[in-house]
Amino acid sequence: MRSSARVLLFNPPILDFSAFDLWIRPLNLLRLAGHLEKAGIAVALLDCLDRFHPAMPEVKKSHRFASYGCGHYYSEEVAKPDILRFVPRRFKRYGMTLERVRRELERYPPPDMIILSCMMTYWYLGAVESARLFREMFPSVPLVLVGVYPILCPEHSRKCVPVDFVHSEASAVKLLKFIEEHLGISIGLQDTYVSPSYHLLTSTSALPILTASGCPFSCEYCASAALSSGFQSFSHETIVEEIKRAVRDFGTTDFVLYDDAFLIDKSRHAVPILENIVRCSLPVRFHSPNALHASEIDRETAILLKKAGFVTIRLGLEFDDSERLNSTGGKVTAAEFVHAVSWLKEAGFAASEIGAYVFVGYPGQTPEEAARACLFAHRQGILVKQTQYAPTPQSAIWERGFPDFRFDPGEDPLLQNCTLMPWRSDTFPASVYFRLRERINRWNALAQRGCRCDE
Ligand code: SF4
Repeated sequence: MRSSARVLLFNPPILDFSAFDLWIRPLNLLRLAGHLEKAGIAVALLDCLDRFHPAMPEVKKSHRFASYGCGHYYSEEVAKPDILRFVPRRFKRYGMTLERVRRELERYPPPDMIILSCMMTYWYLGAVESARLFREMFPSVPLVLVGVYPILCPEHSRKCVPVDFVHSEASAVKLLKFIEEHLGISIGLQDTYVSPSYHLLTSTSALPILTASGCPFSCEYCASAALSSGFQSFSHETIVEEIKRAVRDFGTTDFVLYDDAFLIDKSRHAVPILENIVRCSLPVRFHSPNALHASEIDRETAILLKKAGFVTIRLGLEFDDSERLNSTGGKVTAAEFVHAVSWLKEAGFAASEIGAYVFVGYPGQTPEEAARACLFAHRQGILVKQTQYAPTPQSAIWERGFPDFRFDPGEDPLLQNCTLMPWRSDTFPASVYFRLRERINRWNALAQRGCRCDE
């Protein structure tokens, strides 16, 4: 057994039609770093999406959520892949340029292993170009691929990304075993909560936090079950200690919940966490870009969320039709949603702080149905966050196929991009989609002013 080793964790740039830093942080790599550092391994992180990294080209455009830790990425236009030629938009690389990545890598001491992450399936081109760069610069260093992409598309990852090991399971056990064997260092195989190595980030003012992994629901459009080993809540004392430590050590002001199901089993999990945070009077804000379960929000929960410092509340509505809500997973009813919004407002949340995700372009959904669901959300006096449906491998609906699509999203993960929605099907043509988007923008502008449309 060796006594020390160096591992480089790498989060590649995004190659896509659009990308925005809505609290995108490599939490999977930070959690993995926590395991490795505990075993005495020296870990470095190069996050090509870190807007605060000194090697990141400057972006002049600011954003209204900048103080919360969000913002625009630096981007450069790159050649559009042939398979996406039909999309009338420019294709770009978002994040650090390849030249700067190369320069940064030259500054690192040679690693004993490189672990490369790829989140969305349709971002795999960033992983491919990074893996090629590593092969050229560090030809003999073992290279590992992790993230959502290799879990949802294991065969494609093995075929297309030139690495030594593709980690295609939700559990980290096999990955840690591979690392142990190749580095000759005992890590201690644990698949439980380990503190993320936040200190590896260049900016710690806004940090991602995971209080529970997985989700007990099985909505037909979601692959949460494939991405986690069951639903597991971490100890609420541990989570509160983690938050307090980050405030004390880094001066963190914003926490971003990466949970899929924060409020499920709330009396034993979310409520004690929130009550503890209120008791400590921590000067922090919370954001839930992954939707909270509206069905779990009653008057007391809404008040607790407000008192704990939540300022960005997102709710998963998806549809307004009860039959559709029920048949796709039943995580909420329209009545529960209406109640949740009214409790949140009564607790003091402003319209601009609450947004509802609503699907647009869902298989079998007509434009009228999508517009009606968006209008339903708007009429509750909150923001409508339209979600262009993205076909997701290993979700239940994926198995049924997509008869009204012009292409098979299984042919190439690039075709799983939600941006393709307006050019994907005759049922929901681009002109209809863009008209609806304009209406939603008008409704949201009205909601921000506390008004509602009279349609
Ligand atoms: S959509 Fe939300 S509630 Fe449904 S399975 Fe996924 S994470 Fe759970």
